[in-house]
Amino acid sequence: MILVHIERNWKPGSVEGETLKCPVCKVLTYAVEYLDIELDLCPECQGVWFDSGELELLLGSQAAVSCEPVDIEEAPRVCPVCPHKMDKMNIGPGRRVVIDRCPNGCGLWFDANELSDLTHDLKNEGWHVRPEVREFLCGMFPD
Ligand SMILES: [Zn+2]
Ligand SMILES: [Zn+2]
Repeated sequence: MILVHIERNWKPGSVEGETLKCPVCKVLTYAVEYLDIELDLCPECQGVWFDSGELELLLGSQAAVSCEPVDIEEAPRVCPVCPHKMDKMNIGPGRRVVIDRCPNGCGLWFDANELSDLTHDLKNEGWHVRPEVREFLCGMFPD
């Protein structure tokens, strides 16, 4: 279902060599390209991985994705790139969305819906997110 949606709406990235494994389900993710940014989607849990710097590029703002550590009782996940446990971080101006970030700077992991939550937060806090980007982020997994 989701792959049908992806194939219909996106240009799949050229997957060369290995793709990442989802840190939650351990299945191979699906690499897609959007506005020259490559991201990895898990077809099982609908999580999304951004390599370091890609989300900033997409949103056009470093500050929009600023993070701070948060202390919550959630099992740590392992970075899909390097073998380190990721940190739980609050991200965005509202600091309401909790994501996983690799301490080595590999990138960010968003569970399903966290990306659209962040996008809504940015909008509510008055950040300018290009309409097409907002639509992309919020519409990635329509109900
Ligand atoms: Zn998954
Ligand atoms: Zn890493």
